[in-house]
Amino acid sequence: MKEKIFVTRPLLPPLEEYVNELRDIWDARFLTNAGPKHQKLEAELKDYLGVENISLFSNGHMALQVAIRALGLKGEIITTPFTYASTTHAIAECGCTPVFCDIDPVTLTMDVKKAEQLITDRTVALLPVHVYGTVCDVEALQKLANKHSLKLIYDAAHTFGVKVGDKGIGTFGDISMFSFHATKVYNTVEGGCLTYSDPSLKEKIEAIHAFGFKSGSVNADYVGTNAKMTEVSAAMGLCNLRHVDKAIESRRRTAEIYDSMLSGIDGITLLHKQSGVETNYAYYPVLFCKEKCGINRDEAAEALKRDDIFARKYFYPLTSDFNCYKGKFDRGVTPTADKAAENVLVLPLYAGLSDDDAKRICNIILNEVS
Ligand SMILES: *Cc1c(COP(=O)(O)O)cnc(C)c1O
Repeated sequence: MKEKIFVTRPLLPPLEEYVNELRDIWDARFLTNAGPKHQKLEAELKDYLGVENISLFSNGHMALQVAIRALGLKGEIITTPFTYASTTHAIAECGCTPVFCDIDPVTLTMDVKKAEQLITDRTVALLPVHVYGTVCDVEALQKLANKHSLKLIYDAAHTFGVKVGDKGIGTFGDISMFSFHATKVYNTVEGGCLTYSDPSLKEKIEAIHAFGFKSGSVNADYVGTNAKMTEVSAAMGLCNLRHVDKAIESRRRTAEIYDSMLSGIDGITLLHKQSGVETNYAYYPVLFCKEKCGINRDEAAEALKRDDIFARKYFYPLTSDFNCYKGKFDRGVTPTADKAAENVLVLPLYAGLSDDDAKRICNIILNEVS
């Protein structure tokens, strides 16, 4: 019996390593509220991500909400619907209006020219998403934000450790959100962080994420939530940080097998490689065009499933098509995003996926292609 293969598999450190970290927590009896593990992880992540300012969170979604609240945003936020639910929900939950912009057909990230056409006097911010490990056009977006005095927040949930030139991806824009969810390249079981350019934001961000209390204060200066990272999550983060480079290297190997076996086929589009960008191989999306290769995305997924391989339609549907947003916000005119959501399939990619399994996955697809 072959084992089932899922689209991802969580990164786990050797159990003994984690138990050792837990021993310290048992000794200190300090479980949350910026304890020693939290502080250590914060320092190590600052270094790893190459950022000046960072705050840790219970998860990426709460971090994104706190980012919007810390910047005091009220009004329209231009974003893309080709993303995970979190991006759009965070905007709506904070009482802002998502304005859906189309994506670029090559990078599948926000189309900056189209974003400019959507700016009105109600626009307060841009919230683009770095998808799959591919980065947005950070320079053009910053220029656009400056020109119209807009805040720029990145959903960087997929781009842990990605660099543009020698700069960490978290150094761009006003604020970036990273997710440390179990399914991501790097995890703290659940967790996330914000990185930001203005150091004076730290006090406000961390107050809002802890019931509105500034450090040491008994009176709340902000309406706040509870989104603190616990010591047991931070301990997992310290362990996984020691293994993440090896994990990314393993992902790269698998991605290269996929590249070599699936490239050059009419009707199969692979992700664009960005020059000057050091990616993290977070996801391996493939776009199918049935007219050219004979199978569509769903047929490819079905063929893999017959062999107990579970690829995923990610992202489908667009967040602008969610039931909860029907009639609430303009859906937006997003033909490129529509097409990507209809045709994309994300293949299994995680540290430890064997070369043989990667080749088997390609061969199943190649057998279906005409
Ligand atoms: C995972 C993810 C999030 C949310 O992160 P959580 O840590 O799960 O809350 C947000 N945006 C995108 C694009 C994601 O993939």
